[in-house]
Amino acid sequence: MNKNILIIPGDGIGQEVTTWGKQALETIAKKYDHTFNFDEAIMGHTAIEETGNPLPDETLAKAKTSDAILFGAIGHAKYDNDPSAKVRPEQGLLKIRKELGLYANLRPILLFDELLEASSLKPEILRGTDILFFRELTGDVYFGEKIRSEDNSFASDLMNYHRYEVERIARKAYEAARTRSKKLCSVDKANVLETSRLWRDVVQEIAREYPDVETEHMFIDNAAMQLVKNPKKFDVVLTANLFGDILTDEASQIAGSMGMLASASIGDGTGFFEPIHGSAHDIAGQNKANPLASILSAALMLDIAFGLQEEAKAVTQAVADTLKAGWRTGDIASAETPTTRILGTNEMGAKVLECLR
Ligand code: NAD
Repeated sequence: MNKNILIIPGDGIGQEVTTWGKQALETIAKKYDHTFNFDEAIMGHTAIEETGNPLPDETLAKAKTSDAILFGAIGHAKYDNDPSAKVRPEQGLLKIRKELGLYANLRPILLFDELLEASSLKPEILRGTDILFFRELTGDVYFGEKIRSEDNSFASDLMNYHRYEVERIARKAYEAARTRSKKLCSVDKANVLETSRLWRDVVQEIAREYPDVETEHMFIDNAAMQLVKNPKKFDVVLTANLFGDILTDEASQIAGSMGMLASASIGDGTGFFEPIHGSAHDIAGQNKANPLASILSAALMLDIAFGLQEEAKAVTQAVADTLKAGWRTGDIASAETPTTRILGTNEMGAKVLECLR
């Protein structure tokens, strides 16, 4: 197979972890005799510093012509503490998702048995959890009109959804549910929000096309509670942009750490594969970031973008084997982990590649 892959490391730990996702792809190419051609581009704070634009035209052009994108993370403390900054790293991410027509963000909550002790939840509650989130990406308060009154006494973010936006992601989620346990939970706030009432109406309509899938509707507040009370009750979870953003961070604790969760953004154009974590200023540049989410993002790319299931499984297995051998980064170490088994980003990445080879 011959594919062109664009690497966008972004900012902070994005740069540190993406190198390992890329090396996992290179190792797979060698092992399975594929040709992966790599190009690199800038985005986020790094791009603002170089060009004044969080998503330079050159990056967007490369993104549109590549077969898949491996992304790290964007963000810088400078903007977090200055909410009024007009040019911001996250504008690059929102724009590229829009430009590539990426409307569905898939977030598998993959729980490795070896990390049962790393979670803040009890192992007996977690064991057997396997959730696939579908988070809508193009609508919601992220893109609605934003207002701040001149005297700074009022602000508003408009939450909006179009029927077609709900239809297309709902179909993707139902298709996935068919290949899994045939259970789908749609999460909304239909008791309060008009957008959620539209969401629920549309999901109920689409549900009729999939009579073999059992549908449940749940309010977001209840879902947030059930996710830590009984995560095993969920299989495919379908939800809007804001609710999905928050629920999947919560769910990352099921997998032990933000540093473990990969995601795939798919839609009309080039697929975009990235860890769910951000640029983590608190640990950036210290060789402390967990590279496994980036490596697992590479696995998702092989599976979803290229249909290379065997290769994807090999990457996931290499991660499992590394964990089984006892190796940990700080974020997934437990009180029982010997300090000699706690590795930095680069050493952990190298261990996974060793297993993969
Ligand atoms: P974050 O995900 O960067 O970090 C949250 C916490 O998790 C931190 O304590 C961090 O050290 C830890 N963490 C995250 N990834 C880790 C990894 N791979 N290994 C070990 N620990 C890890 O979220 P935040 O602190 O809220 O935001 C930091 C910056 O990232 C902000 O500028 C924010 O805007 C940006 N951000 C970007 C994205 C993205 O690019 N997709 C997503 C979320 C946040």
